[in-house]
Amino acid sequence: MNVYILTLFPQMFSGVLGASILGRAIERGVIRVKLVDIRDFTHDAHKTADDYPYGGGPGMVMKPEPIYEAVDAVKEEIASSGSPDAPYICLLTPQGETFCDRMARELAGISNLVLICGHYEGFDERVRYLADREISIGDYVLTGGEIPAMVVLDAVARYVPGVLGSDQSPRSESFADGLLEGPQYTRPAEYRGMKVPEILLSGDHEKIRRWRRKQSLKRTLERRPDLLEKAVLTPEDRELLLEIAWEADAGDDLGTNASGRGAQPGVK
Ligand code: SAM
Repeated sequence: MNVYILTLFPQMFSGVLGASILGRAIERGVIRVKLVDIRDFTHDAHKTADDYPYGGGPGMVMKPEPIYEAVDAVKEEIASSGSPDAPYICLLTPQGETFCDRMARELAGISNLVLICGHYEGFDERVRYLADREISIGDYVLTGGEIPAMVVLDAVARYVPGVLGSDQSPRSESFADGLLEGPQYTRPAEYRGMKVPEILLSGDHEKIRRWRRKQSLKRTLERRPDLLEKAVLTPEDRELLLEIAWEADAGDDLGTNASGRGAQPGVK
C-alpha cells in the first residue's frame, strides 16, 4: 500500500512514522509512506501556501494552486510507477464523514491512498473538488489535518495484511465485530488484592471463549448500547445476554462498570 500525505508540516510525522508497529511496517516495505510538502509547489520566494479570506474574517486560508499541483505530482508519480490504480484522495476536515473502523477497513484495500492535511482556517473551497472522500476524526476542531492523518494512517495500517504480527489480529479487538472487547489481564495473577478471574487460569479454552464473549457483550451493553443494537448477534450471544440480564436482576454485578473503577471484576 502506498500512502501519500500532503502537508505543510512534514516534520510533524517523524515520530509516528519512525517507531513501533507503523515504523516496522514501513521499514519492511509493507506500507510505503511519502510525505509531500505542499510548500514545494508554491512559486514565490516566500513559498506562500495561504492567503487572506475573500470577504474578510479571521485567519488564513490555504491556497488551491499548491495543493492541486501537489496532487498532480502524486498522480504523475503513480502513473510512472506502472501502478494501474488511480489515487484515492481523502481530505481531512472536521466537516467530513466521521472516521470509523469500517472506513479504516475499506481504506486498507486501496493501493494508492492520498491524505490531504489542511491548516490555519482550512482550505479554499475549490480544494474539495479534488477529493473522493472527506474525513473527520470527530466533532472537534484541531489546528491542522496532520494529527487526523496520523490517526487515519494508523487505524488503516492495522488492517493491511502483514502489518500486525501473525499472533495479533485486528478482528478480535473493539469495533471489529461490532462490539467492545472485554477485559484483558496479564501477570501477576494477583496485584494489590485484585485477582485475575479464575476462569482465565483454568486452561479450559471453551469456557474461556464463552466468558470472553459474555464480557464483550456486557461491556458493550453497559458502555455502548448503540453498538449492540446494530451488531449481528448469534443464538449464543442472545443466550449470554439473557444470562447478563438475569444476573443484573439478581444484583450480581460482574464489576465491568463503565468507569472501570471501583469494585474488582467478579470472578464468574
Ligand atoms: N475552518 C474550518 C472549519 O470550521 O471547518 C476548520 C479548520 S481547522 C482549524 C484546520 C484544519 O485542521 C482543517 O482544514 C483540517 O484539515 C484539520 N482538522 C481540524 N479538525 C479536524 C477534524 N476533526 N477532523 C479532520 N481534520 C480536522
